[in-house]
Amino acid sequence: MRFSELAAAYERLEATKKRLEMRVILVEMLRPLRPPDLGRVLYLSQGMLRPEYEGVELGVADSLARKAVALATHVPEAEVARRTKEVGDLGSTVGRLLEEQSRLATDDPLTVAGVYHELEAIAAAKGAGSQEVKVRILTDLLGRATPVEGKFLVRFVLGTLRVGVREMTILDALTEVYADGSKPARLRIESAFNLSSDLRLIADALVEGGLASLDRIGLEVGRPVRPMLAEREPSLDEVLKRMDGRAAVEYKYDGLRVQAHIARDGTVRLFSRRLEETSAQFPELVRDLPKAVTHLPAIVEGECVPIDPETDEIRPFQEVSRRRGRKHDLEKAESEIPVCLFLFDVLLSGETAVWEKDLPDRRAVLASIVRPGERVRLATQRVVTTTEEATAFLDEAIAAGGEGLMAKSLAVGSSYHAGARGFWWIKYKRDYTVGLTDSIDGVVVGGFQGRGRRAGQYGAFLLASYDPAKDRFESFCKVGTGFDDAAMAAMPPRLHRFLAPEKPPEVESGIVPDQWFRPGVVLEVRGAELTLSPVHRAALGAIRPEVGFALRFPRFTGRIREEKGPTDATTALELVEMYRSQVRQATAEPAESPPEKE
Ligand code: AMP
Repeated sequence: MRFSELAAAYERLEATKKRLEMRVILVEMLRPLRPPDLGRVLYLSQGMLRPEYEGVELGVADSLARKAVALATHVPEAEVARRTKEVGDLGSTVGRLLEEQSRLATDDPLTVAGVYHELEAIAAAKGAGSQEVKVRILTDLLGRATPVEGKFLVRFVLGTLRVGVREMTILDALTEVYADGSKPARLRIESAFNLSSDLRLIADALVEGGLASLDRIGLEVGRPVRPMLAEREPSLDEVLKRMDGRAAVEYKYDGLRVQAHIARDGTVRLFSRRLEETSAQFPELVRDLPKAVTHLPAIVEGECVPIDPETDEIRPFQEVSRRRGRKHDLEKAESEIPVCLFLFDVLLSGETAVWEKDLPDRRAVLASIVRPGERVRLATQRVVTTTEEATAFLDEAIAAGGEGLMAKSLAVGSSYHAGARGFWWIKYKRDYTVGLTDSIDGVVVGGFQGRGRRAGQYGAFLLASYDPAKDRFESFCKVGTGFDDAAMAAMPPRLHRFLAPEKPPEVESGIVPDQWFRPGVVLEVRGAELTLSPVHRAALGAIRPEVGFALRFPRFTGRIREEKGPTDATTALELVEMYRSQVRQATAEPAESPPEKE
């Protein structure tokens, strides 16, 4: 495939806001493709070179890309910088610069394969002299690029490709190209993706033998499985009702989810909820897991929480979050804030894939292969049949440092539903019944200039929830409370790569912030209640036409949900459920004054 064809498709994708139109463009783009170009195009379109879990980074900073643009267009760097400021992004700038230059038509047009290969070389350049190598490769590519190609090349290397193709839209397109476009076909493709987390594998299998060849995509140690997710219910009564009166309840540990892949030879790779590799953060787990899990290879899952080395008690989550990205001093961190992994599931044991077994069987397997110790233990679990038993268990979980309980179905069909949120698992956090005590995970889509003490920096942010049905991020609050100086100062560098010159098409809000951001950074907020709002767009029309939800008195909890991607934010549907459960409580206890917050 010519790279110009891909760039032309991106141009069209960028011009549309409609998911349906996007799908049509994607279908046209993918239909003629065959491996290996097919996989490359799938990765490139998502702004990646390899599946996300491999963590391949191009390592191209703004300044490096600017240098390459200057060299390729023979325009001084300062001038490139000035024009970029004017236009908004370096991609559009290089596009315009190339357009202004009358260049000879090349007899050596860029191909997808060629570009992909060069981008791989950029990613592979490491260590001394690597910057020069990266500049040279990028300069060469831009020297051969058409204006449109140049624009998307630069955006790709900077990680700011804005064509907005999400995995779910790609799965829709694949269903249309390689199956009959039906719902059952879509589900089958999605579940294969949930198990493998790699679109190329799915697409290649579909090309080879249609839906039937998806069956051979199984679990593989080292390739993360998309995590099973939990629903919520407003009371323990309703939790039990959902589970037909009998459930396994577990402590809900408040830490970081860890999916541990342990190879036969004892090599360990850890993945976060977002499928990023986190092995380097937890050397003690990498060391201890092969000893604690007796039957290898294995894929097990648990929650990692900090443990007080003196008292063996669970400590607040914030302490483990401080270890994220801390490359040096890990040894110190390890002794100061040691962690313990509480295992709650097993997907692979020995050569046997056990994820398809129902929960009672999986738990039995887990118990039989884990030798609990200092760093690796089993999540505390009990089977309950009454609300009283569940309530007592909840109290126990809270007292032990948990944030609530996880109720899990024991019924037929309670297999590990990879990548799916359903009522097989229901989370229930403390005090849920007395107002909106549950937190909300919101995506930053805008920033507001600060005043007074915060003059010259951001003072607040516009947060959005996510609506998977519409693939839109809809605002629900403006939050400025809860940030201390350090937390506020830490925001601009995090948000930098998501800066948007105008409202991104996937964002909906009746409020116009001083600065727009593409959805990327997820913050945890709490608030007093969800109210109906004419200016916010979250779950628009769910209760009344043209009315969305707003969070009243929002406060940042101090927790940046690093492990969550924008589409992992609280969904519109969850907001509706939270709103409804709030109303139910109010009618149940009409004499009560509004609950105290925090
Ligand atoms: P939330 O992040 O609030 O949506 O809650 C779901 C998360 O709770 C899961 O992704 C896990 O990281 C965590 N968790 C803690 N304890 C358990 C448990 N016993 N079973 C399943 N998930 C748990």
